[in-house]
Amino acid sequence: MHRLLADPSLVAMASEVGAAAVKTAADAVLGDARARIAAGDEVTPSLEALAARVRAHVEGVRAGDFIGVVNATGILLHTNLGRAPLASQALEAIAALGGYSNLEFDLTTGARGSRHGHVTPSLRALTGAEDALIVNNCAAAVLLALDSFARGREVVVARNSSIEVGGGFRLPDVLARSGARLVEVGTTNRVQIEDFAKALTPRTALLLRTHPSNFRMEGFVSDVLPRDLAALGRRAGILTFEDLGNGALVDLRAFGLARERTVIDAIADGMDLVAFSGDKLLGGPQAGIVVGKRAPIARMLANPLMRALRVDKSTLAALGATLRLYRDPGCIREIPIYAMLAQTIEQLRERAGSIATFPGIEARKVTVVESQAFAGGGTLPLSAIPSVALCIEASGVAPGEIVRLLRACRPPIVGRVQGGNVLLDLRSFAPVCDTAVARSLASILGS
Ligand SMILES: *Cc1c(COP(=O)(O)O)cnc(C)c1O
Repeated sequence: MHRLLADPSLVAMASEVGAAAVKTAADAVLGDARARIAAGDEVTPSLEALAARVRAHVEGVRAGDFIGVVNATGILLHTNLGRAPLASQALEAIAALGGYSNLEFDLTTGARGSRHGHVTPSLRALTGAEDALIVNNCAAAVLLALDSFARGREVVVARNSSIEVGGGFRLPDVLARSGARLVEVGTTNRVQIEDFAKALTPRTALLLRTHPSNFRMEGFVSDVLPRDLAALGRRAGILTFEDLGNGALVDLRAFGLARERTVIDAIADGMDLVAFSGDKLLGGPQAGIVVGKRAPIARMLANPLMRALRVDKSTLAALGATLRLYRDPGCIREIPIYAMLAQTIEQLRERAGSIATFPGIEARKVTVVESQAFAGGGTLPLSAIPSVALCIEASGVAPGEIVRLLRACRPPIVGRVQGGNVLLDLRSFAPVCDTAVARSLASILGS
């Protein structure tokens, strides 16, 4: 190590980016080389070759390569960290496509096929809906629905549904952009079915309901039952659309969370169209899924905008594989977010204990503490999930500096600073990451 760090190119680099960043990279490179040598994959590389790898490593970190990170924030669906991690079955499904695939090719007839056809049977079976389509994300699904049915017409929305979900998605703005006119009914806290009934005109195209993703209202509140809204739409011959957002397909109480409205509930309530994200509580790739009645889905599929909003083959492969896991209730825990939610406090404590006592980590520097994790991704804002974290204390080193060093590791580790301490929450990363986390901590705390 000291010979490597004395290499003139690395000394120069250290004066530019800091000795710690170079040391961290050197640790990773040497660790990797040792493992390869031990596995017989490599003969001992020269000092020059190792120095070059360290330089590439530091440059890679600086260049902001698109790479995997360890999510130790405790936020399971962290939008900045890519929301839902994919199941290994989903990753394998992408790899299995190889170069070409039958994306839009019917292998029986040899004629053109539908890219949606690969996942609609699963979606129908899982949700009870007649048909389904997939677009780039839930925001695109809402835009497509509004463009297909409501351009130049009116959309009736309760004031409690006129929401912003973050990341620039504000329902009134999306509506305005689609050329639909927003008709708000009720008050911020209370709305009744009569409010909707009174707002109907010959120009009404859609009755819209949105999930209050990242906020909750309490106290003197009342809402319209979705089933009553669906019934009103049916009586009046007006489409009902529910923007469900998180797209839970299972009862979350089985995972220690509050009961969330599921896609199955929305279809059973009689909503004509239900839109949700693929990468929130579904635990799949980024996508916007619309399920519902056959005729309106067909109309959306025929919209020229569909061509601009359609998804890539890898998205469909990953989504199809994720949905297959739901078809066997025993496999749901293989979906990473559900695997993470299903971990017991004892399991988390045991993992934390092994990391904290990893060779090279001094006892006092890393302690195991109680923590609170959250589902994140604009879902279940009030449901804190009991968790366990590693609390890192390096005397004389500011928390901000520790989190910076953690981000410079390979893979980078993203933790959180809380009450002047750096916390690494165990619930939001998989046990396969534990050794990498332990090695990186030993390296950082040892220097
Ligand atoms: C998250 C969310 C969206 C946006 O979903 P994306 O897939 O990120 O586009 C839209 N509506 C609701 C209610 C949401 O919760």
